[in-house]
Amino acid sequence: MTDPDPTRWIRAGWLIDGTGQPVVRNALIGVRDGILVSVGPAGSQSIDAVDVSTSTLLPALMDAHVHLAFSGSLDERVRTAQLEYTLEAAEAAVCRHLTDQWRHGVVAVRDGGDRLGATLHYKQTHERFKDEPVTVKAGGWAWHVPGRYGRMLGRAVPQGASPAEAVSAQIDAIDHLKIIQSGVNSIDRFGHATRPQFDQNTLRAMVGVAHRSGRPVMVHANGELPVRLAIAAGCDSIEHGYFMGEENLRRMADQGISWVPTVVPMSRLAEASSLRPDQIDIARRTVDHQLDQIRKAVQFGVTIALGTDAGSQGVDHGAAVRQELALLMAAGMRIEQAVRCATGHAARLMRLTDRGELRPGGRADFLVVDGSPDRLIDGLAHIASIWISGRRLSDQEVSSAGSIHPLPPSSSK
Ligand SMILES: [Zn+2]
Repeated sequence: MTDPDPTRWIRAGWLIDGTGQPVVRNALIGVRDGILVSVGPAGSQSIDAVDVSTSTLLPALMDAHVHLAFSGSLDERVRTAQLEYTLEAAEAAVCRHLTDQWRHGVVAVRDGGDRLGATLHYKQTHERFKDEPVTVKAGGWAWHVPGRYGRMLGRAVPQGASPAEAVSAQIDAIDHLKIIQSGVNSIDRFGHATRPQFDQNTLRAMVGVAHRSGRPVMVHANGELPVRLAIAAGCDSIEHGYFMGEENLRRMADQGISWVPTVVPMSRLAEASSLRPDQIDIARRTVDHQLDQIRKAVQFGVTIALGTDAGSQGVDHGAAVRQELALLMAAGMRIEQAVRCATGHAARLMRLTDRGELRPGGRADFLVVDGSPDRLIDGLAHIASIWISGRRLSDQEVSSAGSIHPLPPSSSK
């Protein structure tokens, strides 16, 4: 007597595999021991399969730019209070926001830092973290120049130490290095550029420290010159990149540097009731300009990874991924291209090599969304099922995620 085939089969109406390839109609995937063993068109074979033939199957989502310690709340009291959070309160926020990510089918996030390094601390102190459903890549705190933008996201390089020395002291504890290389976008002056924070040699030295220890480098940079210096220093990704210009996009394509354009925060500002009409007009034009840059980036072959900057004003953890996907499509991407930014490309940037694409040998982490791909963006608001390592999570596991992400021991006091 032979053992029955241990492969579990799932038949889907449509499959988006995360590589950017066209949607596969009537697909069949096979999973064994949590790993995909077969992915492709179902053909005419009759096989005992879980039937989701009125649904679309796609890789579980990732967000390559979040701030887990911050809420996207529009409430000014919340926004002000969280700037002064204790480590305990910030870690409780991290925990809540991981739950929000999870409920929206987001299984990996890359954190862009907070003042206390709370996300990194949560990750380090939470014993069960490696078994948690959401993989967190944490940079701890971001580095900025004293007196320049970045206080809420990290630390100023200490007086008397070189920036590279400061980075060296931190590097073993972090998953990636985050550097703040410009200011933020102005909603008072359209396209106003801020000065670079670090000069090219300093940036190069910081990037060198990270690369020698095998860590990638994410650089917050808006404007032509700050982005140009970050590219020349050999960073791995440009974050935001508003008004960086065509030449920088071409350089990024040539050098294989990823771009995380984070359009949602500006699009939310364009809807903010607290702004004056002229500021709303600038925010709208800034969004349009960024969508235009995305169009060019696609044309030049820049690798775009989806990041939302969740934790910014009006940008909610988890829910924002859908909004950013819609904006990428507003810039002209097909659904397969937009999904790739939130799956294959994000996974590559996070160095999650067995994730993000549905292909034989990869981890069977995927979402099932009712309906065809042309309704996918709306459908992601109510995901039918989440599968991790080939196992369908129960409704209770999805809805009671508070028990999945318990507070760290220090917060239970
Ligand atoms: Zn950010």
